[in-house]
Amino acid sequence: MQLDDCLFCRIARGEIPSNKIYEDDDVLAFRDINPRAPVHFLIIPKQHVQSLAQTTPEDEALLGKMLGLTRTLALQEGCVNGYRVVINTGADGGQEVPHLHVHVLGGARPWKQM
Ligand code: 5GP
Ligand code: ZN
Repeated sequence: MQLDDCLFCRIARGEIPSNKIYEDDDVLAFRDINPRAPVHFLIIPKQHVQSLAQTTPEDEALLGKMLGLTRTLALQEGCVNGYRVVINTGADGGQEVPHLHVHVLGGARPWKQM
C-alpha cells in the first residue's frame, strides 16, 4: 500500500523526481536532497511503512534486504573506508519524513551535522 500524499511514496511512484542509484520491485535508493556527507543516500521500501517501529516480523526479509543493499550500494558509491547507517525512528528519533528510510553516509570527513 502507498499513500497519496506521502513524500517518499510519491518519490517511489516517480511523481517527484529523485536522483536514483538503485531500484527494484521492493525498494528504491536515491540521493538525499540535502547531503550531510560526500556520499549520502536513502534506501526506502516502495510500500508505505511509517517507520522501523511500525514494522512486524513479516517485514524482516525486507529489512534484511535493505541492510544487504546498504553494504552493496555503499561499496558501489565508493565508501571503501566505512560508512554510517542511520534509521531515525519517530519523534524522539528525529524522524522528519514519516516513511521508513535508511540513511547511508560516507566519504571523507568532515561531515555536516545530521
Ligand atoms: P529524516 O530526518 O526523516 O530521517 O530524514 C529525511 C531525509 O530526507 C533528510 O535527510 C532530507 O534531506 C531528505 N529529503 C527530504 N525531502 C526530500 C526530497 O524531496 N528528495 C530527497 N532526495 N530527499 C529528501
Ligand atoms: Zn510513504
